[in-house]
Amino acid sequence: MEIRTPIVAILVLTTLIVIYLRKTRPQLSSSRVFFAFLILAFVNILSEITECYVFVYLGSAYNTLRHGVQNFYIGSLLLCTYTISIYVYSKLTVRRSVSAKVSAIFAIPLIVGIVSLIIGKASYGRTESGFYYNIGSMIKICYAVGFIYLIGMVAGLVIYRSRLRREDFFSLIIGTLIWVFFAGYQYINKGIQVSSIAMMLMALIIFIIIENPKELFERAIPNVKNKDAFTMLLLEKYGNGKLFYIISVIFTGKTSVQTAANRDELYRLQGNVAKIVQDRIDLDGFLSNWNALSFVTSSPEKIEKCMTIVNNYKDDSSNYRLTFTVIDGLKCARDANEALQILTYVSGEYIYKQSAPNLVIDERVIDKMIYRNTIEDVVRDSVKNKAFEVYYQPILSVADGKFSSAEALVRLKRPDSENYISPEDFIPIAEKCGLIQQIDDLVFEKVCSFIAKENLESFGVKTIEVNLSGNEVVDFQAFDRLSRKMEKYHIPPKFINFEITETSYINNDDAFKENVRRLKEMGSTFSMDDFGSGYSNLLEILKMDYILVKMDKEFVWQCLDKDKPDNMKMLQYTINFLKEYGLHILAEGVETMEQAKILIDNGVEYLQGFYYSRPVPEKEYLEFLNAQKGLFEPNMKGE
Ligand code: C2E
Ligand code: CA
Ligand code: CA
Repeated sequence: MEIRTPIVAILVLTTLIVIYLRKTRPQLSSSRVFFAFLILAFVNILSEITECYVFVYLGSAYNTLRHGVQNFYIGSLLLCTYTISIYVYSKLTVRRSVSAKVSAIFAIPLIVGIVSLIIGKASYGRTESGFYYNIGSMIKICYAVGFIYLIGMVAGLVIYRSRLRREDFFSLIIGTLIWVFFAGYQYINKGIQVSSIAMMLMALIIFIIIENPKELFERAIPNVKNKDAFTMLLLEKYGNGKLFYIISVIFTGKTSVQTAANRDELYRLQGNVAKIVQDRIDLDGFLSNWNALSFVTSSPEKIEKCMTIVNNYKDDSSNYRLTFTVIDGLKCARDANEALQILTYVSGEYIYKQSAPNLVIDERVIDKMIYRNTIEDVVRDSVKNKAFEVYYQPILSVADGKFSSAEALVRLKRPDSENYISPEDFIPIAEKCGLIQQIDDLVFEKVCSFIAKENLESFGVKTIEVNLSGNEVVDFQAFDRLSRKMEKYHIPPKFINFEITETSYINNDDAFKENVRRLKEMGSTFSMDDFGSGYSNLLEILKMDYILVKMDKEFVWQCLDKDKPDNMKMLQYTINFLKEYGLHILAEGVETMEQAKILIDNGVEYLQGFYYSRPVPEKEYLEFLNAQKGLFEPNMKGE
């Protein structure tokens, strides 16, 4: 025995314990076991130091004391080995936690060791150089017990390694092998005691690679744990199968986190809410999605209190609103993955809402989510297989009575049927999951190749209208992507008129302006889509220098509503106002001859709607152009 090694080891362990406790409370069962290991290892090394002291400084008169500390050292060492094997088990088991039954079975060798310690008699020897060491048949039994645990751990790790992250597997196996090596070394070389080093290294390796509390926290929000930590907690909760609830506070109200200042505001808010909840009801906050802070509890009173805290939380300097959702863990989802999906769905749906009521997750919400997810899957597949089609809806120019333009509209077929998924359904989803750029790109590529291949100009077509999603235009690369395609197919940029919806310039930022400016410089033009639906800012329209305003079909229908003659005035006023600023006007949703007449009488210059043609595939569009009908003749062919 020698006192310096255990002293180094105990200092290291003390440091780990302090760091651990300052940063976090062990919440997962595996981290609780690891924490128990740290404490037990600490106690064991302390007993080793005592053993050294007793043997070296107190004479053989203190024989009983010698035997006592000796037994304590060996017994606690076995307990450490037992604990670390439980830790390894908890990492390997699918349930992520250790039941009392398993702990009891695992304890059998430990009990054998301890019983043999009590009834057998530990003795000690002394080497020639004066070092004491433990010896005796009962010591051999204890070594055997220790090796059973160590070999069991190695075997378990190797067999179930696929259940671990690579780095976790390597750190655990290396830690265990080092331990095996030191134990063998100590067994063979009498007088040398290195168990403390083995435990210290094991603790360090696990601490740094697997249990590092720093890895569980959001970098930008120090009080809040990250999604990894949340996922681990959920896995364990579902493994346990006991009742629990997830309370999710969703931050809504900003269209997206655009600027650094915006983001900091959100982080500050999330940090504050997490801190208050932690201080008042002792729940850890997890950032389950960028705009959702989640808490996990099994106590309904805590849900109640948490709601009160959040509902009373006031932050006047912030534009975000706080909304709630509570998920009954076991009722709403079968496993952690499903629970995460629901949370992502709910927080995603509410990002764009200015205000949202507290949400109860029930079957209806889950059905909506499933529908949404199916569509998302179809969209992802279709992007991969470029399985979109483009339909064209002719637009009538009143001045020359010709269909001199058309709007390109994307179409997506359900994989196993002839039915189409409406763009109204899948475009918003594609926008949220970041696929819209690729869709718009595919559409634009098809449009350009179609214009070139069929030489649309020869049919008297002057422009094709292409929809651009707000998310597309705020991307700095948009200009390059679009202009490259026009060059590739030799399409004169003035042949393309891009339609942009009003909502896109809520995000009116530099990239957006720059893209629009450069495309205009090349000769393309822009129209404002969906005018009259929701938020209209006339000043913004004027600033953006559009050439055409497309009145939304709902707006047109409302204005033409015979029961509300006042609405007609609004139509006239709007048209006059826009014309005064040199804007051209298109009406969408023209379904009857009567509507067409009224609109033309009021000065609308372009008409688009089912009365003339539904959106049709390429071939039918060409046929339509070949047989151009007159101004007031319906064409009900198509879709
Ligand atoms: P939008 O740009 O307002 O497109 C016009 C919509 O009105 C089209 O719906 C069209 O089929 C429909 N429509 C045209 N005339 C009539 C009519 O007389 N009566 C009625 N009831 N409806 C009419 P669609 O094709 O379902 O597209 C819906 C929306 O999806 C579009 O609205 C547009 O915002 C978006 N979208 C379509 N294609 C694309 C695309 O390639 N890229 C992007 N980013 N969005 C697209
Ligand atoms: Ca459009
Ligand atoms: Ca429109």
